[in-house]
Amino acid sequence: MLSIINPATAAPMAEIAVDNATAVQRKAAVARAAQPTWAALPLTERISLIHQFRQLLQQQQSRLAAILTAETGKPIAQAEAEIGATLERIDFFTAQVAAVITPTIAHQDCSSVPGSARLEEVITHEPLGVVANISAWNYPYFVGANVFIPALLTGNAVLYKPSEFASLTGQAIADLFHTAGVPPDIFVPVMGGGAIGAALLEQPLDGVFFTGSYATGKKIAAAAAAQLAKMQLELGGKDPAYVCNDVTDVPATAAALADGAFYNNGQSCCAVERIYVHAEIYDAFLTAFLAAVQAFKMGDPTDPDTYLGPLSRQPHLEALEGQVKDAIAQGATLQTGGHRVEGTGWYFAPTVLTEVTAEMAVMRAETFGPVIGIQKVTSDEAAIALMNDTDYGLTAAVYSRDRQRAQAILSQVKSGTAYWNCCDRVSPRLPWSGRGHSGLGTTLSLEGIRTFTQSRGWHLKAPSS
Ligand code: NAD
Repeated sequence: MLSIINPATAAPMAEIAVDNATAVQRKAAVARAAQPTWAALPLTERISLIHQFRQLLQQQQSRLAAILTAETGKPIAQAEAEIGATLERIDFFTAQVAAVITPTIAHQDCSSVPGSARLEEVITHEPLGVVANISAWNYPYFVGANVFIPALLTGNAVLYKPSEFASLTGQAIADLFHTAGVPPDIFVPVMGGGAIGAALLEQPLDGVFFTGSYATGKKIAAAAAAQLAKMQLELGGKDPAYVCNDVTDVPATAAALADGAFYNNGQSCCAVERIYVHAEIYDAFLTAFLAAVQAFKMGDPTDPDTYLGPLSRQPHLEALEGQVKDAIAQGATLQTGGHRVEGTGWYFAPTVLTEVTAEMAVMRAETFGPVIGIQKVTSDEAAIALMNDTDYGLTAAVYSRDRQRAQAILSQVKSGTAYWNCCDRVSPRLPWSGRGHSGLGTTLSLEGIRTFTQSRGWHLKAPSS
């Protein structure tokens, strides 16, 4: 059994049954047997079942948001927003899938010379087969839907292992699919922690789609490589933002970056984790940034006005304390926060550090919490060098009045996503991918649908007579 703890109260709220290795093996076999029938359904039928799922998600949005808030501590307004935006992602996938998987004619030789053969070269896009989706807890609807919706639409069976820290949400998603009419042997929840994830990877799989940390991602990559399964990894980030000296609305920029750093308690793969500010506007920026952070309302995540809830995982309190301690020991200045909040629940005060350097863990390792370092820079070149001083490469942001300047800077920064005057933003229309330790492969965009298929080349020659 897995005990689910409410991070806001530190009290156990539920116990759920977890799978064992034998159950995982049985589930994988069931999915394998069922997949060809699912793939043979007309696309319109699969789309209609996903529409049904979408409708249930929308109808039950409040109930589902309450579950997400209870088990992860995500403030209720942010839980509602995540589910709301997931509906839009589903709409993108259902609208685009036909265009992506419709066979294409690459070449046609319609020569009318008597006796010559007519040749057609065609490309079809077929499902991978049975895919594993091992998922994270921080945005279970977003990161789950990026995988399971296009995977199902393109005809795959999905073995879905939600994070053990979002198990109730994972179970609710599975129930919704089954109520919608997606067969239980096509969308198959696999419940448990890392050991069950590892057992899942021992099953014969045609694709492994993982969202989580770099440390786990490396293990996933090794397991997927052992069976030559297609592999995609959406991993962590240490995302930088640079504020140029030509920014005029400094308070608005500071507020936008504070939101980018602290939304969902900083527990976002694309949270702003490092801020570089040009020396000419540094003082004004810092004043405005601290004012924005101090205005955040921390408290009960079920209160619609709460912006900062508890951390989702208790051990992370210690990890954050470690980063703050390390930074101060190396000369950083603590501007605000830096400690746990007294009382029940796993709350950490929003923390701002200045006089930070690239050597400090807070500017190198993924923080994944409400802690941010702000560093002064004196040129674009210095900012570019610092932004690139990382093993990660998920997103990078530049704030400037000058689009050309921002694009010139961003094109020199290693990242899968580039933001001008915005941050911590995801669009279903654009590819989502990481460089370096941030991952391999692409979700979202048309590419993020095609990735669940394999193409076949057809050489079709009509008889010459
Ligand atoms: P995690 O790596 O701890 O766990 C992710 C999943 O892997 C969980 O389901 C877990 O049970 C499973 N797992 C753990 N060990 C395993 C093993 N040996 N074999 C198979 N499965 C195993 O990550 P997390 O704490 O759930 O998520 C936070 C991380 O995810 C952060 O680094 C964050 O940046 C990243 N993330 C990335 C994206 C993205 O799109 N790039 C999105 C969301 C989260």
